[in-house]
Amino acid sequence: MSEVKKNGEPLEDSQATVHKKEKHPPGLYLLFFTEMWERFSYYGMRGILTLYLTTAFISGGLGFDASSAAMIYGCFTGFVYFTPLIGGYLSDNYLGQRKAILIGGVTMAIGQFTLFSSQSRTALYIGLLLLILGNGFFKPNISNLVGQLYTKNDPRKDSAFTIFYMGINIGSFFAPLICGTLAENWMAVKEGGQVISYGYRYGFLAAAIGMIIGQLLFNALAQKYLGDIGKYPATKDKTGHVVENKPLTKKEKQRVTVIFILTAFCVFFWAAFEQAGTSLTIYTKDFINRNVGGFEIPVSWFQSLNPFFVVTLGPVFAALWVKLSKREKGDLTVPQKMGMALVLVAVGFLCMVGAVLQRGGAEDMTVKASVIWLIFTYFFHTVAELSLSPVGLSMVSKLSPPKLTSLLMGVWLSASFIANLVGGVIASKLDSFGHMQIFGGIAAVTFLLGLILLTVNKKLVKMME
Ligand code: GLN
Repeated sequence: MSEVKKNGEPLEDSQATVHKKEKHPPGLYLLFFTEMWERFSYYGMRGILTLYLTTAFISGGLGFDASSAAMIYGCFTGFVYFTPLIGGYLSDNYLGQRKAILIGGVTMAIGQFTLFSSQSRTALYIGLLLLILGNGFFKPNISNLVGQLYTKNDPRKDSAFTIFYMGINIGSFFAPLICGTLAENWMAVKEGGQVISYGYRYGFLAAAIGMIIGQLLFNALAQKYLGDIGKYPATKDKTGHVVENKPLTKKEKQRVTVIFILTAFCVFFWAAFEQAGTSLTIYTKDFINRNVGGFEIPVSWFQSLNPFFVVTLGPVFAALWVKLSKREKGDLTVPQKMGMALVLVAVGFLCMVGAVLQRGGAEDMTVKASVIWLIFTYFFHTVAELSLSPVGLSMVSKLSPPKLTSLLMGVWLSASFIANLVGGVIASKLDSFGHMQIFGGIAAVTFLLGLILLTVNKKLVKMME
């Protein structure tokens, strides 16, 4: 039934559309669950990878020393964000997003099974390589499909990507808990309560199963909820004829330049943010008082704080973007949101500076800083992440010329490629440079970059129009 005003007249067309448009299409939730399972798989295996690498062979691991393990971990987490450039290009020109997602998902499932199949270094390298390749096909294309559910400048886009981002984080919240518990408890061989041999392989099996569930779900329901979206490459029609081969206009080139500029700023955001898995974890282990009422919180549990905050704060942000977009002057601009994110990540690191000051430079390892500092750090980092990461996905989908959308999604993700490598180097200097210098230095650099971004906001917005 059509909507009517109180006096019985039908609503004006535009009003009715705006009203109806507040709801998100069901396809968003299909992509939400598909990505949730894929991220479950990714973060589940990533959560036990370092332990698997460094545990002795006889105890179910591969017996690498700590520095080789850090190197393998750093390269793996970096290169998974390099291959989206390749997967994005192939999808735009030859495959279309749906096929790329299938190829990527199946490749990653085989990768996880390879890790499960044998406790050997050969299986490790082949498995990681398959995961790196598969992610390249999967990640830029699933994100791109979210954008394609909406018209180019639909105001619901930022909110849609925020909801999608919550899916990512529900997966990454539960994954380390489930895969970790399988590896360290349920599938571990114990004697008198002591672990003799860990069951890491079963953690990888759980990751493989998660990936398969996501793929089954996606392929069974895509036709129903996505229709023809993402079936053909952006540059070709159903019959394979090229439809998009015009050179980019001046305006399009400007928009692509903005994507590159903002991606470059975000490298610094991710390099700071990714310290969660490295320097922040090392600091937590040694210098944060994890004792709460006689219970010692395991270091790895702090990894769940970020996804926990994303899932709890996500709805607030999704609603906030919609609300702001209804103001007369509209939503905050993308550079404003990202500039704020850089400032907030700096505030997070200032909390770590607070922790260092509280310890007062004590050599004594028994002098600990309060856990509150760390909780606030993760809180600010998550607020920052929510105003940068989903917003970035949304921005790429709005600014990209259609024939380059998946490739440019790959460009956006490649910020994390450089950031993981750079972030690893920064973290490795923690001891030689000192905690204050590293945490304070990161805060200063990101704060400054945030201010620069806020200053050039108008110029960038002009280029984006
Ligand atoms: N947590 C995000 C994800 O897993 C991070 C993406 C990124 O590093 N660019 O999708």
